[in-house]
Amino acid sequence: MKNKIIVIMALFVISSISAALSFLSPEQVRLNNVIPASFYTQSLTDDETESIKYMREEEKLARDVYAEMYTKYNIRPFRNIKKAEQTHMDLMKDLLTKYSIDDPVSTDVTGSFTNSELKDLYSQLIDQGNLSLVEALKVGALIEETDIADLDKQLKITQNKDIKETYDYLRYGSENHLRAFVRNLKANGVDYTPQLLPKEDFDKIIALDRSKNKDIRGNCDGTGKCDGTGRGRGNGRGNGMGKGDGRGNWNGYNCNFPERNCIYR
Ligand code: MN
Ligand code: MN
Repeated sequence: MKNKIIVIMALFVISSISAALSFLSPEQVRLNNVIPASFYTQSLTDDETESIKYMREEEKLARDVYAEMYTKYNIRPFRNIKKAEQTHMDLMKDLLTKYSIDDPVSTDVTGSFTNSELKDLYSQLIDQGNLSLVEALKVGALIEETDIADLDKQLKITQNKDIKETYDYLRYGSENHLRAFVRNLKANGVDYTPQLLPKEDFDKIIALDRSKNKDIRGNCDGTGKCDGTGRGRGNGRGNGMGKGDGRGNWNGYNCNFPERNCIYR
């Protein structure tokens, strides 16, 4: 009986500690190492909460515009990238759920947004994209530039590990998408000039064509697992060579999305 009481008291102490820890910043939390991660969730700043809600709808904007442009022009980049944006939307939903934030996407209907700025932007981009294929590809490049700029803004200030990992992942996808649109514009005789990103940053992204890097292609097994050797990032064309636990790092990007990694980034 005495032992039972001691155990109950110990459990109470542990749960009190974990409750208290949820209000502390990670730097202050030394006990992290002994308490399982699931015991607490970092609290978010208002700015982080707003950013998560905004990015959830910004990913929807990308998906919805590409869906419309695919219907109109029927070319592959819009189809493939639209699928990637759905994955990005899902990842943002995971963040909303984890932090119990209301989902601004109340309906999955194309072109429907809670944020009025994004709603207006959507209409503008659709109008421009409807003009011609070249204009549609320019719209794609602009969306990706916007995405990268917005992700970077938050990545610079957030200390939250979940946000950092998710935004890093989304940004990596956006770089690929930006390169794809710029490449397709070039194939249509147009040299794309960045509208939003500093020319220097834009040039770096274009120069770093990871899709041509042999090391990345084929490192994923198509199940979303990474090889855990530091080369976990694939492009969805894995051929069954991947192994490990999905925790590998490559080039500073974490590989912590076992179910979704490597598929339509
Ligand atoms: Mn995206
Ligand atoms: Mn994108």
